[in-house]
Amino acid sequence: MFVSDKALELVPRYGAFLEKHIIPLEQGAIYGSFRAHLPALQALRAKAKEEGLFAPHLPVSHGGLGLSLVDFASISEVLGTSPLGHYVFNCNAPDIGNMELMHQFASPYLQEKYLRPLERGEIRSCFAMTEPEHAGSNPVHMSTTAVRDGDEYVINGHKWFTSSADGASFTIVMAVTNPSAENKYERASMIVVPLDNPGYRMIRNIPIMGDEGEDYLSHSEVEFVNCRVPVSHLIGTEGSGFTLAQVRLGPGRIHHCMRWIGICERALGMMCDRAIERELNPGHSLAMQQTIQNWIAESAAEIKASRLLVLNTAHIIEKKGAKAAKEDISTIKFYVSDVLMKVIDRAIQVHGGLGITDDTLLSFWYRHERGARIYDGPDEVHKSVLAKSILKSRMG
Ligand SMILES: Cc1cc2nc3c(=O)[nH]c(=O)nc-3n(C[C@H](O)[C@H](O)[C@H](O)COP(=O)(O)OP(=O)(O)OC[C@H]3O[C@@H](n4cnc5c(N)ncnc54)[C@H](O)[C@@H]3O)c2cc1C
Repeated sequence: MFVSDKALELVPRYGAFLEKHIIPLEQGAIYGSFRAHLPALQALRAKAKEEGLFAPHLPVSHGGLGLSLVDFASISEVLGTSPLGHYVFNCNAPDIGNMELMHQFASPYLQEKYLRPLERGEIRSCFAMTEPEHAGSNPVHMSTTAVRDGDEYVINGHKWFTSSADGASFTIVMAVTNPSAENKYERASMIVVPLDNPGYRMIRNIPIMGDEGEDYLSHSEVEFVNCRVPVSHLIGTEGSGFTLAQVRLGPGRIHHCMRWIGICERALGMMCDRAIERELNPGHSLAMQQTIQNWIAESAAEIKASRLLVLNTAHIIEKKGAKAAKEDISTIKFYVSDVLMKVIDRAIQVHGGLGITDDTLLSFWYRHERGARIYDGPDEVHKSVLAKSILKSRMG
């Protein structure tokens, strides 16, 4: 639906690349050391460039493929089948969101110094908004401040869940610059902070259900102590932080949802393969059990419904803008994350004890994708947005 011929031609090329080059690295990079695999992953990035597949989301003039949001979404599904897929093609979160944001709102200076190397895949970035002391689902309440002192901002604050900060070259930090603004949505700004700044400190990688990860595959707790950056590091205007955050999140939810659908596809494939090969008695496989068949059928239907919902939402964003797609964006966020949980859980159950070991990717997804129902707005917030909008339209 809505997908162009160009994307339909690209999808199998990405699939073949994943199969041949990326999937063989998975076990080592995911359950071993991600950092130790960086040279191999960089070599794959170079190969992706050679094959004209690198950075599919970027305009052609910036080294990308110039795809529409719908077309990129369909490719994102294929890339999502591997936890390394988006990384190799340089369209992984949080870099992709930062690229989109900086492309639209950063000054030529910031674009040259930070965005271009990010687009070329030479550096990584992160996004520091959430604070342990405040409810991230209502981020207007934050303690991090950026106080102007001459030509500099002095930033002080404590953040966590700054994904992929370990090994990143810069962060975009959300900090209060205009505390007395009447409108609470006009108090914060986004500021670029290079992470070799002496006022920045990574406290730790936060263990996620026992796995603290490293590099791109991690979430950090960080702090800014009298961290000084030039005022030229402001993105957009002072007080525009929340407006920019909304711009960053609209397409971002499409990216996440399609990645989740890719995970579901792979988990469903694994579920089917295991059900076929696992014999309860000689000649009697798990696949012959009706409960297992129900799980396969329910998963397939939910994946298909998810895909249609997400592509339709991407289409509305493209044609009418993110504001017009507000209900749809909330719908896909909670619907697809719930499908993701169910499909991964069913796949684990079909694998029995094997499903909870690190011998398959299922345990990695079970651990690390549980966050899908929490980040980019907890599901409950999105359900509330949708319900209120429906009720409002009923009340006239
Ligand atoms: C894997 C992962 C990666 C992340 N990456 C980043 C990142 O790169 N940068 C960054 O800044 N942040 C990041 N975050 C943080 C994320 O944005 C926050 O976790 C999220 O906004 C929720 O905030 P919180 O954790 O403080 O939960 P809280 O705000 O304390 O909410 C707790 C729970 O309360 C319920 N709730 C909240 N509001 C409502 C409501 N209105 N109605 C009903 N129930 C409600 C929900 O069930 C919610 O899960 C990440 C989080 C995760 C899990």
